Amino acid sequence: MGYTIAQKIIKEHLVCGEMVVGNDIGLRIDQTLTQDATGTMAYIEYEAMGIPRVKTEKSVAYIDHNTLQTGFENADDHRFIQSVCKKHGIYFSRPGNGICHQVHLERFGKPGKTLIGSDSHTPTGGGIGMLAIGAGGLDVAVAMGGGAYYITMPKMVRVNLTGKLSPWVSAKDIILAVLRVMSVKGGVGKIVEYGGEGVKTLTVPERATITNMGAELGATTSVFPSDEITREFLKAQGREEDYTELSADADAVYDEVIEINLSELEPLAACPHSPDNVKPISELEGQKIDQVCIGSCTNSSYLDLMRVAHILKGKTVADGVSLAIAPGSKQVFNMLAMNGALADMIAAGARILESACGPCIGMGQSPNSKGISLRTFNRNFEGRSGTADGQIYLVSPETAAVSALAGVFTDPRKLGPAAEIELPEKFLINDNMVIAPAPVEEMDNVEILRGPNIKEYPKTSPLTDSIEASCSLKVGDNITTDHIMPAGAKILPLRSNIPAISQHCFTVCDKEFPERAKTLGKSIIVGGENYGQGSSREHAALAPLFLGVKAVLVKSFARIHKSNLINAGILPLTFQNPADYDKIKLGDMLELPNVKKEIADGSAVTVVNKTTGETVIADCELSDRTRAIILAGGLLDYTKENS
Ligand code: SF4
Repeated sequence: MGYTIAQKIIKEHLVCGEMVVGNDIGLRIDQTLTQDATGTMAYIEYEAMGIPRVKTEKSVAYIDHNTLQTGFENADDHRFIQSVCKKHGIYFSRPGNGICHQVHLERFGKPGKTLIGSDSHTPTGGGIGMLAIGAGGLDVAVAMGGGAYYITMPKMVRVNLTGKLSPWVSAKDIILAVLRVMSVKGGVGKIVEYGGEGVKTLTVPERATITNMGAELGATTSVFPSDEITREFLKAQGREEDYTELSADADAVYDEVIEINLSELEPLAACPHSPDNVKPISELEGQKIDQVCIGSCTNSSYLDLMRVAHILKGKTVADGVSLAIAPGSKQVFNMLAMNGALADMIAAGARILESACGPCIGMGQSPNSKGISLRTFNRNFEGRSGTADGQIYLVSPETAAVSALAGVFTDPRKLGPAAEIELPEKFLINDNMVIAPAPVEEMDNVEILRGPNIKEYPKTSPLTDSIEASCSLKVGDNITTDHIMPAGAKILPLRSNIPAISQHCFTVCDKEFPERAKTLGKSIIVGGENYGQGSSREHAALAPLFLGVKAVLVKSFARIHKSNLINAGILPLTFQNPADYDKIKLGDMLELPNVKKEIADGSAVTVVNKTTGETVIADCELSDRTRAIILAGGLLDYTKENS
């Protein structure tokens, strides 16, 4: 039996476990990336492990999330990361160099290699045939130290692309079509692999738009073959030597096959407030809009922005619409500046933002209250834009640009024949914003710059024999990491300061939660389906840890968040009978009388509701390794114990 692309990369990097679906497997990691919002903590954790130099082939720290510099905290974090990088052997991509995933794709990613990143959109690297997975900061710290990265061996899904996109229909519409079929839960425990004749019609940046937003499917990752188109892209980036061909064997077996005929697709939008709430633009046409934001790691490649510039050229943004554009990397920004496309955008009235995440992570450009904002981004969860009642629609750059001019939802196919815009034969290559680490012999002289915003990792302790704790919060289905640990300009600067950031934990759902949890000392959170969906944000586990949360008892978990809870030493429990969710109320006193023994034995966990006298049985699905992590009190303690 042949192998799929992902299975080939896994086989090549397997350090333990068997490649059987559902098994825990350990992978050797070639490359890591961090961004500043999760990176500060990842490097605090790396330091705590006491390993002098990273053991990966390439590790890169990007500064892209928090670039507003509204206070000293942000600048302190950047200086801290830069100094850690210099000392410990990590490349440092300075603020202004661009968004981590786009820059990594352009400058560092290699087909056939493994990459983990402390950001959920790390699967962007699948666009050049990498096995690129979003992970927690602590997982990245461990991988930098030479440790394996553990995943559950996923199922394989093949998305078979046939036909060819019609003019003004784009890669964004492909992934929105996949989301419409699979939903935000449909990819959990799966790797989505693209194949078929249609693949040959897509450039690397287009493939990367699709793998990027595969994160919204909840998939472990998404991957495209590495073929002649990949080779051309790498050649244009001046690194043809990084190319290797990679494709699925003809007799590879997939657990699921989805057919998408590109010729039948039309422009789509993900409507508020979920990326799988997809409708055709034709159904929304004519509705007034307030704002358009073009950028993010999903849609700000050279091709995307050249198409936008072409649409805007010689026109003016509609009255009452604010159009903001953030090029995804300095490379793209510079090329647009040199070929005149930037001038066309400025002349049309676009507000040009720096090469960073910006509005995608709620750092500026919040829409007006109840404002309708069309964005080329990948997420539209409630509140992420910074405006609680903002109505965010996710669209292609083409739909965004044409709608910005019209002031209403507009189908870009109205523009008539599309302009032929192609990737250049050679990109502008200038890596002057990437700082190499100090040579090994000089690393001892590098001082770590630690400002007052850099606080230690929260205190952890091994799992106790029993737990007695109140239910400090009860939430419903589809709680996202944005609900648990909101982003935004006021909160992001506190990412290296857990005591301060924890004061914002869950305040979107319940303003009193942080104070209540702290007063209780020990507590348990109860939730519904797909708890923790969204990002790899480990602060969504670290803030509850700091506030004394001992266990999270839900109907089901999102993958990365569950592993972040385990890494933080918080018990991830699921109701054996989902209807038992109704048996626990906010404030109920819960007891887990034999929890340590039950976890150690791998048996179900008994939860006694001492307030009502009822008993609930919970599962705690753990592998041998994650069980040992939970018993030790978290991954940091486990790593220290085992190194
Ligand atoms: Fe940045 Fe948004 Fe991409 Fe996250 S999804 S890396 S915030 S651009």
